[in-house]
Amino acid sequence: MFGRIKGGLMKHQIEYVCDKCKKPIPNSKGFLWINLDDIAEYRIELRVWITEGRHGRPPLKPRWKAHHGKCVQVREPIRSVRVESVRDERGLMRVTESLMQKDAAWLSLTDWLDYLRSVAYVGGTEWFNGSPR
Ligand SMILES: [Zn+2]
Repeated sequence: MFGRIKGGLMKHQIEYVCDKCKKPIPNSKGFLWINLDDIAEYRIELRVWITEGRHGRPPLKPRWKAHHGKCVQVREPIRSVRVESVRDERGLMRVTESLMQKDAAWLSLTDWLDYLRSVAYVGGTEWFNGSPR
């Protein structure tokens, strides 16, 4: 398969808004993050829900959050991504590839792929606070 971005630069810039103060996050001032214990817990809840016959609503996927560094005290252990590295589609591809290098399964248990889908089809999502500019 061959595909190439003409001109080299993509025209969309993704803006991230802090989940706490609701203001945009400039480069080097914040990050996207997720707690790894939440993912481990979700994995167990999901297994229970499936083995018990999938009754009722499935457990909720852990969500990536966006924060200014000064607006949050994260609970370790986490995975995090600086906002400046995911400003456009190309950045998102790079980061996704690096997040999946060791183990792709954990990433698919989060809303990361839902976020990628929303960027690809509608330019971002409310609950991730990403939007095209
Ligand atoms: Zn903030």
